[in-house]
Amino acid sequence: MESSLPQRVFSFEFFPPKTTEGVEKLEHTQRQLAQLKPAFFSVTYGAGGTTQDRTLETVIAIQKKGNRAAPHLSCIGATRDSLRQVLALYRRHGIRHLVALRGDLPSGMVGVGEFRYASDLVRFVREETGDHFFIEVAAYPEIHPQARSSQEGVRHFKEKVEAGANSAITQYFYNPDAYFSFCEDCDAAGVNIPIVPGIMPIANFSQLSRFSEACGAEIPRWIRLKMQGYGDDSASIKAFGLDVVTHLCQRLLDGGAPGLHFYTMNNAGLTSVIWERLHLHEEAMGN
Ligand code: FAD
Repeated sequence: MESSLPQRVFSFEFFPPKTTEGVEKLEHTQRQLAQLKPAFFSVTYGAGGTTQDRTLETVIAIQKKGNRAAPHLSCIGATRDSLRQVLALYRRHGIRHLVALRGDLPSGMVGVGEFRYASDLVRFVREETGDHFFIEVAAYPEIHPQARSSQEGVRHFKEKVEAGANSAITQYFYNPDAYFSFCEDCDAAGVNIPIVPGIMPIANFSQLSRFSEACGAEIPRWIRLKMQGYGDDSASIKAFGLDVVTHLCQRLLDGGAPGLHFYTMNNAGLTSVIWERLHLHEEAMGN
């Protein structure tokens, strides 16, 4: 399996299921989305040890079906030894692709461990494994909640690239101008790795609102008020959400985005519809 990727990259994100039903559902979702021929499937990782074994099981299941899998790996609360072991395990299972993150400490957990920032993790992975892994890192067009300014965010993002990141996936957003402005700032700062927009299809609006507040993603006022106006009318929420997100993706691709990364929430439905509306089938066949 090659460690490089094609020019425009389309990928799907899963979280590791907790139950047997969740595992079966994800297998079904993976089968459906594999038909779209994404460049890879990524699998999230719980900071502080909550879902780490399940991440490994899920990526192994993905690889077994002949698809490229990219486990997320967070460093907060970890030690050099524990991460060395995880990296060795991934290498043994033929994994060539990682999403390297700092993570957030689960509430009640104290002590950041031996790594402070994602840039420390990227540096460590490079020191330990050279060029074995293709490394993705996170980017925040609407600014990470702990960054004091956009400039500070770009500076710290650049540190991850200098430490050896190959590519980036953004936090989700619904305002394409935030993405284009962030890319311009990165360009001006001499950062030239691909910055792939993270796309969150809108399924459950109240859940999305709560989540957005925590991660610093803004839901534009006009979208929020229109969604709220639909009340319990889930069909209208779904239809409007599909229009908003498809239009967002189209604007991003037309403006030169180097691909799209879908936060699928382990469901194929909305992502597949958006994919079809964007006519991405033909492009993916070239991957
Ligand atoms: P960093 O890049 O380390 O940045 C964190 C903060 O520290 C930022 O505010 C940054 O500006 C600041 N900073 C960085 N370097 C310095 C420095 N040298 N001095 C001072 N400040 C600094 N979380 C999970 O737990 N599991 C997952 O699987 C997961 N997947 C994700 C996937 C994507 C694509 C994204 C966008 C996020 C994901 N997250 C995940 C969430 C992520 O862990 C959080 O957003 C976390 O708060 C920051 O992680 P990071 O890797 O961006 O950290």
